Amino acid sequence: MAETRPYKKPLPRVDEESRGYWEALARHELYFQRCRDCGTARSYPRAVCPSCLSSATEWVRASGRGTVYTFTVTQQNQTAGFRDELPYVLAMVELEEGPRLVTNLVGCAPDDVRTGMPVEVAFEDVTGEIALPKFRPA
Ligand SMILES: [Zn+2]
Repeated sequence: MAETRPYKKPLPRVDEESRGYWEALARHELYFQRCRDCGTARSYPRAVCPSCLSSATEWVRASGRGTVYTFTVTQQNQTAGFRDELPYVLAMVELEEGPRLVTNLVGCAPDDVRTGMPVEVAFEDVTGEIALPKFRPA
């Protein structure tokens, strides 16, 4: 992406629950949370386990490898920042450690995307502090 123009898309809201996640992404490291009580892995970051409601949480560094769980190709979006990238792929990627995250696939033609396709994380630095975890074919 062009580094000279300002980023036009909405930026994530960094809060107490997600700060460590975003700080790690800025270092190009992808983490997810795992419940210390029941072992359920989760992404995005949140204070409480969606499975057992425990707040005992550990952070686990992801390998960055996963597969396309599902996806859609966006053909129309006139919102500033998005229209310049049409068509783009909105995907849910399942990390090899289990959690799934909503992301964009990059580095491949939308017609070439398939469910089950192996992908790897591709960090996109969008501001000095924020990097986004996108995925490309592995
Ligand atoms: Zn749990």
